[in-house]
Amino acid sequence: MKNIIDQIYNTSEATGDELLRLLNNVDEESTAYLHLRAHEKRLSVYGNKVFMRGLIEFTNYCKSNCMYCGIRRDNKNADRYRLDTETILKCCREGHELGYRTFVLQGGEDPFYTDEDIVTLVKAIKSNHPDCAITLSIGEKSKESYRRYKDAGADRYLLRHETNTKTLYEKLHPDMSYEARIRCLQDLKEIGFQVGAGFMVGLPGQGNEDYVKDLLFLKKLQPHMVGIGPFIPQQDTPLAGANSGTLETTCIMLSLVRLLLPKVLLPATTALGSLDPKGRERGLQAGGNVVMPNLSPTNVRDKYLLYDGKICTGDEAAHCRGCIERRIQSVGFEVDMSRGDHVDRLTQK
Ligand code: SAH
Repeated sequence: MKNIIDQIYNTSEATGDELLRLLNNVDEESTAYLHLRAHEKRLSVYGNKVFMRGLIEFTNYCKSNCMYCGIRRDNKNADRYRLDTETILKCCREGHELGYRTFVLQGGEDPFYTDEDIVTLVKAIKSNHPDCAITLSIGEKSKESYRRYKDAGADRYLLRHETNTKTLYEKLHPDMSYEARIRCLQDLKEIGFQVGAGFMVGLPGQGNEDYVKDLLFLKKLQPHMVGIGPFIPQQDTPLAGANSGTLETTCIMLSLVRLLLPKVLLPATTALGSLDPKGRERGLQAGGNVVMPNLSPTNVRDKYLLYDGKICTGDEAAHCRGCIERRIQSVGFEVDMSRGDHVDRLTQK
């Protein structure tokens, strides 16, 4: 296994057969070696810095019905909320004072906010905080809509591909198409966003062949960011009784993505931290270099429940900032509060 890992480390390339052989045969020793090589790669590109993104979950209304997601349309138990512009701007102000220079606006797919609303919001944040990057994560839209957000000043867009196995994708996403998802990612790239794709680990029915497809897809797409987290069941969804993804497999995927796409911005996700008390630390040690602490107002925190057992649902933004900083330092990394652009974009601000 060491040979394949070294080869990926040296060339950032691997065939599907090699990846499958690796995934089918990893043991404790080769996993430790994989994490070590991924850690070295991350140090060589980004040093020991961990970039901070302030996450604002501004609506949990959603017209989609993803089988795994706690804010899916059919979940009648979800306590729905929307933040108005003033409240979102206040979150940004508070975040800016805490040092954040990236704001991630994430939400369900909520048609209540028109393109015009999103444009107005992006412009207002940019005008208040011209030194900050804005990331949108609001799902599938037309290319024209994406272009309007970009023209308004949005810098980045997160849209996980979720799984690159078409049959599994369509089983998990009623009324959605795999092709449309991929089209959106291509549109976002063409428009010039820094783009984030990514997938869940441990979905029911998902196996090593599926992960290989995810990894090869990412290699081909060359996104700037990759979000990878374990699937965690949510009690009011059709997948309530399924098993969670594991910390081990998630960290293996993080390391492989770091080796295949050395410059990628790779979060140690909240889902990973929710699965295991040291999950985010482990994610950073496996090659992750981003964390996304929550800036949402405390009174809505416990309503954006994509999965059960989500951490930090009651904490103030300042508390999250301090807590995550201590965690980052505890495993030998250093907090970086700058915009944290992808290295290929640093000269193009
Ligand atoms: N509506 C936006 C944001 C979705 S929520 C969009 O479609 O892009 C952000 C991410 O949370 C999703 O992309 C999904 O990968 C993840 N997620 C949703 N439910 C989850 C669950 N039960 N366990 C783990 N991750 C989940």
